[in-house]
Amino acid sequence: MVLADLGSRLTDAISNLSKTNVVDQEFVESILKEVCNALLASDVNVQLVVGLRKNIRAKINLAEIPQHSRKRAVHKAIFDELVALVDCKSEPFQPKKGKSNVIMMVGLQGSGKTTTCTKLAVWYQRRGFKTGLVCADTFRAGAFDQLKQNASKAQIPYYGSYTETDPVVVAKEGVQRLKKAGFDIIIVDTSGRHQQERELFTEMQQISAAVKPHQTIMILDASIGQAAESQSTAFKESSDFGAIIITKMDGHAKGGGAISAVAATNTPIAFIGTGEHNYDLEKFAPKSFIQKLLG
Ligand code: GDP
Repeated sequence: MVLADLGSRLTDAISNLSKTNVVDQEFVESILKEVCNALLASDVNVQLVVGLRKNIRAKINLAEIPQHSRKRAVHKAIFDELVALVDCKSEPFQPKKGKSNVIMMVGLQGSGKTTTCTKLAVWYQRRGFKTGLVCADTFRAGAFDQLKQNASKAQIPYYGSYTETDPVVVAKEGVQRLKKAGFDIIIVDTSGRHQQERELFTEMQQISAAVKPHQTIMILDASIGQAAESQSTAFKESSDFGAIIITKMDGHAKGGGAISAVAATNTPIAFIGTGEHNYDLEKFAPKSFIQKLLG
């Protein structure tokens, strides 16, 4: 089920509210069932859905709500719980101008990491930060060329190496040079694949120790569904990221898995990627996200 389908199924479920004259327990249960089915079909974790149903039930004590206020109370309880699902209440990192803020990006190959590095650089550059990129992916042939091409197009300075094969050395050197040159934001792109997954996680720890990022961001592809949870938990253990960027929200994405990843790692979504172009990055706000989802 695509995310737009989740939105339309939730909207359908909630629109039943306006069609009914009597809101009783049976009606509340039928709406709850539809809301939960829509979330499950979009790959939101079962336990989260069970929790959401429990919380909504607890908020709607019909005996205490007069009939004329029930529609609004049910709508509010559902809306608030959907927001709570994507809101972990902690603020993502706020970089400061006049100081070198190092941001390390982690995530599996294909998640959209390299693309998002440039998008994020453009986002900060447009807000007056002097921004540069470092390519510390020495595993994938062509990774540096891709970053170089994207960065050049966006006129973002970058650092990388065709000869140095140790990503830790490249990351350290790149960050040091950009710090010396007075960059406010230094974004470090890392590898997304290795011979063994364990090696990838070890590499992330080594790069992190070398560049001491102020913020580590995990890039998560909205279309990976249920796998989002285990993937993000594994990265959390090795990289302890402080924010998530969910990419490909414009596509045919089962966004529910990504929503579950937020809860599993208790980490805020900082941005969402909404296309392949450099400006296709939106700051994430839980309330407006759910408002948009519900149309
Ligand atoms: P990496 O291997 O994680 O560095 O992934 P890339 O940055 O190379 O991206 C993989 C593919 O996903 C590329 O074709 C990107 O253009 C595409 N991509 C990345 N972010 C988005 C997004 O938000 N929306 C869409 N539609 N495509 C994206």
